[in-house]
Amino acid sequence: MNRKLPGLARIFYLLLGIFLGAVVMVLSPKAYDSVFQWRFLSGLGLTRFNPGGEKMHRVPEPADLVKLYPDIVVRQWTPQIPSIAITFDDGPDNEYTPKILDILREHGVRATFFLIGHSVEKYPKVAKRIIAEGHAIGNHTYHHVNLANMAPWQVVTELEKANTVLAQVVNQQPSAVRPPYGALDSLAIEAIAEKGYKVVLWTIDSLDWHGLSAKEVLDNVIPELKNGTILLHHSAGGPEEDLSGMLEALPVIIETLKKQGYSFLTIPEVIEQYEAEREIAAKAALKISSQAKRSLSLGG
Ligand SMILES: [Zn+2]
Repeated sequence: MNRKLPGLARIFYLLLGIFLGAVVMVLSPKAYDSVFQWRFLSGLGLTRFNPGGEKMHRVPEPADLVKLYPDIVVRQWTPQIPSIAITFDDGPDNEYTPKILDILREHGVRATFFLIGHSVEKYPKVAKRIIAEGHAIGNHTYHHVNLANMAPWQVVTELEKANTVLAQVVNQQPSAVRPPYGALDSLAIEAIAEKGYKVVLWTIDSLDWHGLSAKEVLDNVIPELKNGTILLHHSAGGPEEDLSGMLEALPVIIETLKKQGYSFLTIPEVIEQYEAEREIAAKAALKISSQAKRSLSLGG
């Protein structure tokens, strides 16, 4: 039954295992990468094994992401009439999200909730209430993972798993994605774009997740408000996270914006306006370049 391997044979099998592991690593770095970025290990934050240069390894800043991928990444926009978009990440839960929905309903304001797939499974009623009260939703991955640490196929799996849950619970599959922690690298962003998603970052972070008081949240937000701002709050937190300062600040932020004549847009509306802006800019650029060519051919 419990036959023991002789010592030499044990060493042989151990060396064979190490050798085969090394062969896989050399022949298929991607396979190695996939194992190390497996979701049960991804919490360890293991570095990615990617051959190549800067593009593969550097995690760009949000402002750089917009410059590098203007067709995919939205961080602000330039509306014709004073407008703003309020967004909430990490929900739903049954503590903060319902209170936020109460405040929004009381003030007649629509917002966008970037939802985590597994939280939607846990609190389907709250997710349904978000939709029933006229708000928009976005995809905030299934497990709330750092996409910059994952292989491209895993990034796509995370997003599609979240959208499958959303389709089942609220019958919607949002194309707007907000990466947890705002973390993305070039590989992740290209995988996201290939599937037709848009990445939506934010212009102002209220830093409410830091457990700030209402005054601190207001100090972060009010001076920075301007046309075309995407404002980031959270509608759920970890066990240690206290969002009560944000709850107290939210009505003040809404009232301030209303007094200044702002309209409140949802993220799908923002994306629509952003794409129209880009189209107009592209046409204008084309016109300028064809005029330049014409004047060159005329010998100007
Ligand atoms: Zn988040």
